Amino acid sequence: MSQSGSYTSRKRPLIAGNWKMNGILVEAQQFVAELGENPAPDHIEVALMPPYTLLHPLSESLRQKGIQLGAQNVYYEPKGAFTGSISPMMLRDAGCHYVILAHSERRDIMGEANQQIGKKLEAAWAAGLEPILCIGEHLEERQDGETNAVLRRQLAVLEDAPEGAPLTVAYEPVWAIGTGLTASPEQVTETHAFIHEELTRLGHDCRVLYGGSVKPDNTAELMSCPGVEGALVGGASLQAASFMQIVQAAADVAAGA
Ligand code: PEP
Repeated sequence: MSQSGSYTSRKRPLIAGNWKMNGILVEAQQFVAELGENPAPDHIEVALMPPYTLLHPLSESLRQKGIQLGAQNVYYEPKGAFTGSISPMMLRDAGCHYVILAHSERRDIMGEANQQIGKKLEAAWAAGLEPILCIGEHLEERQDGETNAVLRRQLAVLEDAPEGAPLTVAYEPVWAIGTGLTASPEQVTETHAFIHEELTRLGHDCRVLYGGSVKPDNTAELMSCPGVEGALVGGASLQAASFMQIVQAAADVAAGA
C-alpha cells in the first residue's frame, strides 16, 4: 500500500453526485423517476447531494432506490442564533448519511480554512454523519511541484480525528473541477498513492474518491487507476442518464468486467 501505484482496494466504491446550487423540486422528481427501478448495483454505493431544500423531499424516494442521501455542507454548532445555517442533526433528520466538507468552492469562494473544517468534521461525526472531505491543489500549485505539500496541509485536519470515525476523502484537483480537464491516469495514480500513504500515517483506512470533470466516457479509465475507490461527480450528475452511465461504468470496473 505504501508503494506509489501499488494500492489495491477492497472497499466498496462510492459514486456520489454533487448537484451544487442546482435543482428545484420538479426537476429533482423528474430525475428520480428517470433513475428507474434498481439504479444502484449491489457492489457499488450510490449517493446524491442535492441542495438543502431538496433533502427532505428526496429522502424517501432515494431510500427506496437504494441511493444514499448527503448534503453539500453543514455548520458546526448544534443549534441557536446562526441565521442561515443548518446543523448536523438537521441533516440527520432530513435523512442524510453523508455530508461533503471543504469542497474547493467553499474553500475558495466562502473562505473556509482548516480550523472551521476541523470543527465541522467533529460536529458531523458527533451527529453520526459520514463526511466526504474534499482536498485538492490549484493549477499553479501543481505546476510549482507543491501538490503533495498542499494535500498534506489539507489532510492535517484529520490529525485529532477519533479512531474509526466514518470518513471518505475526495481528491479533486481544483483545475479539473467544472473545466472539462481531468488529471491523467498517471497523475491520479501517483496522487492517490500519496493520499493513501498520508491517511495511513494519520491512522485512517478510508475510501479515496476522484473528482474533477468525471463523465461517462472517462469513468472506466479513472476508476481503473489504483487507489481510486469511487468518484465525486458534479456537472455530469445533473442528468439521470449521464449519472447512471457513470454508475454503470464504475460498477463494470468494480466487477472486473
Ligand atoms: C465537484 O463539484 O465536486 C466536481 C467534481 O464537479 P465537476 O464534475 O463538474 O468537475
